[in-house]
Amino acid sequence: MNQTLQAVRGMNDILPDQASFWELFEETVRGWLASYGYRPIRMPVVEPTPLFKRAIGEVTDIVEKEMYSFIDSLNGEALTLRPEGTAGCVRAVIEHNLAARQTQRLYYSGPMFRHERPQKGRYRQFHQVGVETFGLTGPDIDAELILMGARLWADLGLDGIELHINSLGQPEERARHRAALIAHFERHAEQLDEDAKRRLHTNPLRILDSKNPALRAVCEDAPKLIDYLGAESLAHFAGVQRILQDAGLPFVINPRLVRGLDYYNLTVFEWVTDRLGAQGTVCAGGRYDGLVEQLGGKPTPACGFALGVERLLALIEESGGAPAAPAPDVYLAHQGEAAARQAFRVAEGLRDQGLNVLLHCGGGSFKAQLKKADGSGAPVAVIIGDDEAADGSAQLKFLRQEGGQQKLNVDDLAAAIIGHLIDADEEE
Ligand code: ATP
Ligand code: MG
Repeated sequence: MNQTLQAVRGMNDILPDQASFWELFEETVRGWLASYGYRPIRMPVVEPTPLFKRAIGEVTDIVEKEMYSFIDSLNGEALTLRPEGTAGCVRAVIEHNLAARQTQRLYYSGPMFRHERPQKGRYRQFHQVGVETFGLTGPDIDAELILMGARLWADLGLDGIELHINSLGQPEERARHRAALIAHFERHAEQLDEDAKRRLHTNPLRILDSKNPALRAVCEDAPKLIDYLGAESLAHFAGVQRILQDAGLPFVINPRLVRGLDYYNLTVFEWVTDRLGAQGTVCAGGRYDGLVEQLGGKPTPACGFALGVERLLALIEESGGAPAAPAPDVYLAHQGEAAARQAFRVAEGLRDQGLNVLLHCGGGSFKAQLKKADGSGAPVAVIIGDDEAADGSAQLKFLRQEGGQQKLNVDDLAAAIIGHLIDADEEE
């Protein structure tokens, strides 16, 4: 017996209505990125496994348990489906020497893969738009990246997304804090869960990032990294805050915001909504000045963020902002052999004039075809039968308003349809 095949758990088909919504979103995103002068880059979906181990850090959720890693059976290479985009982007920047003589403001978008427990807002294949900058020491660029988020929410008609920021300082400062943190958690070892105990001596900062509510209190009382920052780090953080204040952008300083990846320093930030349940972070990022060098490049300051496309789309839907699926301008119905040939010519002619035309295929009565025309959402039907084919004309029928149909020469069709579309637009 044939077994029905299904998509891999946590990896979703995006069906046509939904995919149209994605495309509109992508258009908005593209315009938004262009308005800040960012340029696209596209990296492979598969990268060498050591890239992620080195970039993200061995003792992180992603590397410990979420990566789709496999051995290429043809050559024995260790490969991984990218769980995020920064590592691959940095690899590409180093490999092609992109940051040697100039600064870079880059973006990419596409699927990422993490073996997590699927739930609303958390999938195994999900999509990110990532933005990365290279060669800029900030704090102006940190603030620009944050302000970009605010503009995108406005462009998408979203409100109520709260900005959380923190500073992770520099590695030496984190080291001093780390010692204090370990001492604190050791004093309260009985309150830690298994994950936290295991991380106590490998990556105690990560305990602060735990999603276990039972750890809330012990994390709340933990020594705060910000109290260990030196003057330079504090000045950087203050610089970011000043630009945000100048722009009138409210923010929350969240000392528990440490991010799930190891490569960050100084500024980190997240955009959070309370309207998506537990998966409320729609965008997250920060500065990662050490990563380029850590991956074998010349020391290059860098800063970026990634936004979760599924979560943002869910938020738009939740806010009632999902647009109607786009409809064609014209549905072209026809019957008879001569009419079919004429219909093809007319359809191409209308497309030449910039109209979107759905050409009926598969025969059937005019009645049945006009029912399809109605269902297509097109405002206009063009109808061609034997008589019309014989004298080079077509019937034009307005589907969204009263009034019969009019017979027109095919050469006059496009102008009449465009005129109708403009009138209908103005009435709205
Ligand atoms: P979370 O804390 O929700 O697990 P994260 O810190 O692991 O998020 P990042 O690696 O910073 O997430 O990724 C940036 C953004 O990508 C997140 O803020 C979120 O919007 C989105 N994202 C991350 N993991 C998933 C997933 N499994 N499914 C859908 N979106 C995701
Ligand atoms: Mg995660």
